[in-house]
Amino acid sequence: MPNREHVLALDIGGTKLAAGVMDRGGGLRSFVRTPTRVEEGPDAVVARLLALGREALTAAGHRPDGMAAVGIGCGGPLDPVTGRVLGPPGLPHWDDVPIVDLVTAAFGRPARLENDATAAALGEYRHGPWRDVRHMLYLTVSTGVGGGLILDGRLYRGAAGNGGEFGHVIVDWNGRLCGCGQRGCVEAYASGSAIARRAVEALAGDEPSSLRDVAGVTAEAVATHAAQGDPLARRIWDESTAALGRAVAVMINMVEPQLVVLGGGVTRAGDALLLPVRRAALGQAMRPAAAAARIELSALGDTVGVVGAAASAFLHLDEGANT
Ligand SMILES: [Zn+2]
Repeated sequence: MPNREHVLALDIGGTKLAAGVMDRGGGLRSFVRTPTRVEEGPDAVVARLLALGREALTAAGHRPDGMAAVGIGCGGPLDPVTGRVLGPPGLPHWDDVPIVDLVTAAFGRPARLENDATAAALGEYRHGPWRDVRHMLYLTVSTGVGGGLILDGRLYRGAAGNGGEFGHVIVDWNGRLCGCGQRGCVEAYASGSAIARRAVEALAGDEPSSLRDVAGVTAEAVATHAAQGDPLARRIWDESTAALGRAVAVMINMVEPQLVVLGGGVTRAGDALLLPVRRAALGQAMRPAAAAARIELSALGDTVGVVGAAASAFLHLDEGANT
């Protein structure tokens, strides 16, 4: 008999795969992770994702068919209705992967695919420490930049399941070329990969910088060296948080949320990211909207993808039960 109170969640990221079993109250019964290794291609990565899911079930003491459902979070674009991944920029060669069919066949339970940042927004809304919030924006600053929206207490998916692509809010219309083909998107400045790339470009000049001693510059290295006072790293970091702050101001004006939650790997920089983004966004947004909004770091941290995918699976079960 499937356990109606537990779901398996699978989180497919460009850098890491994660899996876990979650109960309805948001309690994680297991949580496991492994590197994605995108260069191996979708077949090999999906095989390891399914193995990771089995590991999460074993760790939680469940059989593969013991779950109510399986929730899957993945970067967009994707089609949640047919359950297909449609070529996310962070997953090369995943041009049309029927992930829901593959997961359903492997675990014998119904599966649900959700945009990972949309799912994370739901996870943070339902299982974060936030109280009395009806309107919330979630922004993930990771390999890319993505987002999700809770409007009037409900998850907003948009017309085709890809609503909330905040990474492509334009902060400079003549600006840097983005992976989406447009210029000046916030993702082209503030994603982990964009921060690292901009630092590498700056290092091509002859300006002195402590980053020259780093093999393989990452966003984390830029944050660390900026905090230690390196002027080049400081400039790159400040531009990144300024771009993010501007994008958040645009979104606050559009939505007038009570809460903006910032998550994803780049937010491990903590206050070095939160404080300048908060200052810029609340300083630039229209006054009533700025006065209504709080900006905070994700409370769920590295587990937000799995908690979100699980929350999405529960939501889908409940929606199914109501229709
Ligand atoms: Zn873009």
